Amino acid sequence: MSFQPPPSCIERTVANLRVAEPDGIVANVIRTAFRLGAIEILGGASMVHGFTEWTSRGPSVRLSDGASHARRRMILAHECAHLLLDSVFAQDRLKDWGEDYLRRRRRLTDQFVGDALPSLADEVSARGYEGLCDEVGYELMLPWREAVRFAEDVQCVDDAIKAAEDASVSVAAFVCQANRGPRRFALLRLGRSRNGVWLVTNSVAAPRGWHEGTALAPQSQGELELLSKSQTHMTWTTLETDSESERLWMSLRIRGSTGIALYEPC
Ligand SMILES: [Zn+2]
Repeated sequence: MSFQPPPSCIERTVANLRVAEPDGIVANVIRTAFRLGAIEILGGASMVHGFTEWTSRGPSVRLSDGASHARRRMILAHECAHLLLDSVFAQDRLKDWGEDYLRRRRRLTDQFVGDALPSLADEVSARGYEGLCDEVGYELMLPWREAVRFAEDVQCVDDAIKAAEDASVSVAAFVCQANRGPRRFALLRLGRSRNGVWLVTNSVAAPRGWHEGTALAPQSQGELELLSKSQTHMTWTTLETDSESERLWMSLRIRGSTGIALYEPC
């Protein structure tokens, strides 16, 4: 994803959609889904993360069972975008249920989208409909302006983990939204493979050479091994990968055979 602020049509639409919550920024995406006419939210989506099925009674949302709470919340936020926008941008999904059904759904869409619709159509042309639903979902889950405000106080990986917990999002989602502001964070997830090699298992906004599956250089292997056995879980260290000679200074939290690292690439 790009780390530009989202276009204002997305911000305006999401602002209309977000229910004012007593505890501040955490949007209740379940309530939002029902507000958008979902008749039920079920588990059991096995092949995909989630989907919305349009039935004669209304839209039924399915989420995958295995995902974490933060991940399921993100999938549901994406499905909220479908609940809102399918009546305009994916009409064929509703076509079995007649003109009247579609008209009712369009009225609901107009209520939230209003005059932002032409600009949203431009976004569909630019990034595809699924891309638009991702952007709406991210913004619904954690508005980028809030993420950027949180990010001002982030000095180390523990701060980022805390900020993500406060916002009920994954650390990766927090970093994605925070990166739309002036600071740039990169996030690495590290893990020890079965044969004892420390690898990058996931990365967000990291430079080339730090992508998934990359093994760390021998010296960094040793460093991680020591940390995984020590009582200190959080530290600052430099790490390098096997393939790149670049050593990066990062804030690191290691628990057993997994780790999470945060740094600001220059
Ligand atoms: Zn989708």
